[in-house]
Formats: sequence, structure tokens, C-alpha cells
Amino acid sequence: MHQKLAHLVDEVVQELTGTIDQGGQSDCAQAIEELEGAIAAYHYLQAALSYQLEKEVYRDHEERGVYMFNPTKGAASTIALARKQSPRGFSAKLNGYRILFEDTPHLAGAYSMGAVTEEQMDAVLSELGTVSAKHRSEFDQRFAQHPDLFEGKGPRKAREAVREFTLQHIADKECTKLQKAADKQHLRFYRDGDMIRFSGALPTPLGVPLREHLRQGSFQAKRKGDKRSRSQIEAELLVGNLIAGSHRKLPVSISLSLIMTDKSLFLGNKEPAYLEGYGYISSQIARELIAGSFQGDEVDIRKLREGEYEDYLDHLETVTDIIRLYTAPGGSELIAMDSKARAFPKKLKKFIRVRDRTCRTPYCDGLVEEADHIIQHYLGGETSAGNGQGKCSICNQAKEKIGWKEYVALEHPQVTVIKNAGMHFVSQAPPVTGWDHEPFPQLIQDARWLSGFKRRFAAWE
Ligand SMILES: [Zn+2]
Repeated sequence: MHQKLAHLVDEVVQELTGTIDQGGQSDCAQAIEELEGAIAAYHYLQAALSYQLEKEVYRDHEERGVYMFNPTKGAASTIALARKQSPRGFSAKLNGYRILFEDTPHLAGAYSMGAVTEEQMDAVLSELGTVSAKHRSEFDQRFAQHPDLFEGKGPRKAREAVREFTLQHIADKECTKLQKAADKQHLRFYRDGDMIRFSGALPTPLGVPLREHLRQGSFQAKRKGDKRSRSQIEAELLVGNLIAGSHRKLPVSISLSLIMTDKSLFLGNKEPAYLEGYGYISSQIARELIAGSFQGDEVDIRKLREGEYEDYLDHLETVTDIIRLYTAPGGSELIAMDSKARAFPKKLKKFIRVRDRTCRTPYCDGLVEEADHIIQHYLGGETSAGNGQGKCSICNQAKEKIGWKEYVALEHPQVTVIKNAGMHFVSQAPPVTGWDHEPFPQLIQDARWLSGFKRRFAAWE
């Protein structure tokens, strides 16, 4: 068998020799992309072999009547050695493989075809481990109907996509955990040479606003030309505010964005909410979070006339710490705002940041640092939510490279296509209610709508 595997690798090497020596940009990029799919399929095989190895370890220990309380003892370390990696995290990997092969056949199928990478799969399986086997198969059925669910998502976003589902089933547990977290908050200091190190833990409703405040503060300072690293700035913001005197109070009025459906807010629906800077939280926790800043005169955002949204958001920001953004019933979009200005106005920028959550480049989980014109302003691109997207600073620069093109393919929901080195990738703003969006064809290269779209933009080539 090993000889055959070596032979296969030889064949691949021969196949690629020409490209390695003299392939053009797009030949190389496409070969790298194809190899990535093959590598993922091999990772699937390693997962299947690991699962089988673990079962054999179990059988062996049972026969010998040893390790009754830990019957798979040693399996994780053996696999880690074989994979030339630290054993840390391999027990969790094995837990995941059990889920993969026992509860989620459609996920396993996608993995075997190389459609999901190992990093994505580890994140997905780890999140699935928080619910019962029954709910895992329910998730698998949903995945079968949305096989593109993890397309273009980095591990963090892939995990979030699953969390949106799992939270509906572990919400009560989540609430108890939150109450316990408040009892566990602590701060510890210890000496380390010339430094004092400290570590601590805060419950989510305290920790998220604090982290968001530091994050926004360091971004602002960097934009104004501060040369220090973001973590240096954040340290000063945290400590400087506390000890530098009363003229620099730690601001507590931090605006957080919380996206939830009106059903979840008013009718006790279990659909999770999305808290900016944190991720999905259960609807119960969301309701608790906003309980303190709840306004009596509720405004129905769907009934507002054009131009009133900004005033509405303005009003909300001044009266409450949390901006609540609703989605229309059954809809998967936030309500957009438009402007004729060249630079993105503050509120529109915020809207884009909340809508996109992380950088819109496929597989990048980076923070949104810039609001970018998809079609550049000097080429007639509008300053609007439809032509705007959130990008991290690295991806924002990459976009300016010659040959890298981005287009708006669909406005509602907003979908963009990236064309680079002969490859096409699709990027969609995350749906507010995770399962409402129409699935894209799994093999986007063959999609008819994409070729029609490419013809439309032939002038850009
Ligand atoms: Zn990015």
C-alpha cells in the first residue's frame, strides 16, 4: 500500500513539473488550489484511520481487561506521533472524529471530497460536541441542504455558523454558565523579572464591552499614525485610564451592536442574536444584556422612511449602550443606508462593520478595519452599503494589486465575486438568520449565473 501511495505522489510531481518550472501566475494559483482540495481529502483519510485506530485501541484494552475508566488511553498520543505533531489537542480531535463518523454522514462526505479543510472541520466538530447526538444529526440534515455552508469561511466563521444552530439547543445551559461566570470573575498579578504580569477573567457582559473599547481605541490611534503595536496601545488604554488621574476616566458608554430578530426579542423565540466583537449569543442572554438599557418607546425600523435610519441610529446611540438592529421577518438582511459622499460616513461604516462582522475576503477571519468601495469611487462606484464591504488592512491592500478584481454580483443579499489569477471566489455578507439564504451551487466555477456575470463585466478584463 505504501508503495502505491509513494507512486501516486510521484505521478503528481510529474504532472506538476512543467507548472513548477515555468507555469504562469494563474497556472500556479490553480494548481495550488487543486492541491488544497486533495490535501483536505487526505486529511479525511487520516481522520478515518484515526477513528479506526481508536476503536482498535478500545477493543484491545477491553480484551485485556485494562484501563476500564479510560479505555482509549494512548490513542491520541499514538496518532499525534504518527502525524509528527504535539499531542495537545488530539483527544479533542478524536472526539470530533467520533462525531464525524457516527452522527454526521453528510459532513463526512463533504470532507472526503476535499470540500472542507481540516482547520474548518476541527472547528465545526468541536462546536458540534456541545450538543446531543440527536441534534448533531439534525445539523447534518441541514448541512445536506446547505452544502456551501462553510464555503469561504475561515475556522472562526465556520464555527460561528454551527454555533448559530447549537445555541438554540444549549441556551438554558448558556444562561446558567453566564450566572456562574459572574462568580468566577477575578484578576491575578505576579512578578516576572522586570514586568508585572496579570491575568484574569470577566463574564461576557463585562468583558465584551471592555475588549471592544480597547479594540476600537487602538484602531483609532493607529489610524491617527500611532507607531506602537495595537497591544501596546491597548495596554496603555486599559491601565492609563485607571491610574493616570481623573481626567482620563474609563469610558463606560461603549456602543455595542446586537443583531436579533424581533421575534427573539419580544416573543421569546430561541433564534440566537449576534453580538458585535463576540459572536453568537443565545437569545436569553441577549435579552438580559439589553434589559438594562431597554427603551419604552420602541420604534419599528421597517416603518421608517428613507433617510430616517441614520437619525434613528443616532438617537439610539445617545440613549443606550447597545444598538439593536432588527431584521425584517423572514429576511436575512439588515436594512441598508446610502450616501453620496466619497468617504464612508461614520454611520454607514458602522453599518458595514456590523453587517460583515469580519473581513469579507473568503477564508479571512480578520477584523474589519476599513470600509472599502467594491467598485472604486473614481470608476463610478457608489458610497453605499451595496457597494461597500468590510476589509482587514491586509486584504484591503491586496485588492489594489493589478489583476485582482472584485465585483458586486447581487445586491440583495449582497454577494461579491473576487477574480484573481484565474480563480473565482464568492463572498456573501453573513445572513442575519443563518439558514434563510439560498444556497449557492457547491461548485461555483460551473455556476451558470457566474459565467453570465463574467460576460457582463467583460469590459473590466
Ligand atoms: Zn482579510
